[in-house]
Amino acid sequence: ERSRLNRLRHTPAVTLDGQKIELVANIELPEDAAAALKAGAVGVGLFRSEFLFMGRGGDMPDEEEQFQAYKRAVEGMQGLPVTIRTLDVGADKPLDDARRDEAHVNPALGLRAIRWSLSEPEMFRTQIRAILRAAAFGKIRLLIPMIAHASEIRQTLSLIDFARAELDNRGVAYGPAEVGAMIEIPAAALSLRTFLKYFDFLSIGTNDLIQYTLAIDRSDESVAHLYDPCHPAVLRLVADTIAECRRQNKGVSVCGEMAGDIQFTRLLLGLGLRSFSMHPAQILAVKQEVLRADASRLETWAREVVDSEDPAQALGA
Ligand code: PEP
Ligand code: MG
Repeated sequence: ERSRLNRLRHTPAVTLDGQKIELVANIELPEDAAAALKAGAVGVGLFRSEFLFMGRGGDMPDEEEQFQAYKRAVEGMQGLPVTIRTLDVGADKPLDDARRDEAHVNPALGLRAIRWSLSEPEMFRTQIRAILRAAAFGKIRLLIPMIAHASEIRQTLSLIDFARAELDNRGVAYGPAEVGAMIEIPAAALSLRTFLKYFDFLSIGTNDLIQYTLAIDRSDESVAHLYDPCHPAVLRLVADTIAECRRQNKGVSVCGEMAGDIQFTRLLLGLGLRSFSMHPAQILAVKQEVLRADASRLETWAREVVDSEDPAQALGA
């Protein structure tokens, strides 16, 4: 099966009805770019930058070290686009294990991801400057995690502008970067008008979207049986986000586990998704599903699945 899939590495991901599908990779370190290319990814849809910051006892990489890492990632992708997510620390990704002890009762609902970055604006601007500098060496997009409020959006965008101005003042070269947001909090999925007013593209993080929609801690095994990607509420938020982005001609992708799970490929295609970001190991299997699918003929069925009382059953999952 593996070797049969391997033959698909250089086959373009196009559905039976001729829809081009973008299959891109989730990576955690610049070195993972090699595996992404090897798997036939046409870019990186999610570079989880927090892995550069973790396991170093809370010591932060400075602008130069980050710049080198992001530059290695874009160069490793040989001209293909790379979406770099700003620091997503807290909850399941603690900055260092010692600090875990000052733990909060509900870390998943606490100061994580963009909330943390906005509370450390100098650190955030350092990261943005490093990313923008790397954008002079390839196509980079910036992705903001766990954002929900219009005030956070405005604050984030003005810090990005500030970082650009700092580079201008220093006379340092940098490149352009579109700015997008993760849709990971139900409130975000229900505020698409605001999100699409400010952002160039959206990326749906189903791992957290499921956690927050269903109030199920994604790392708590005692409730793992209730962590259900097929809950109609989750699917509706995913479906609405894709539909609204398409209506407004904005890029949208899914970068949570759902994108790499072949049980969901046909459903997501039917809902209009054309960009899937996943662990490189999943790309060929998903490509095989894409090659066998007729996207336009899946539309009505996909809507029925989302609207059914038991989508898992309707999906045959
Ligand atoms: C997600 O939440 O779906 C996601 C892609 O981000 P992470 O898994 O890194 O939280
Ligand atoms: Mg997430």
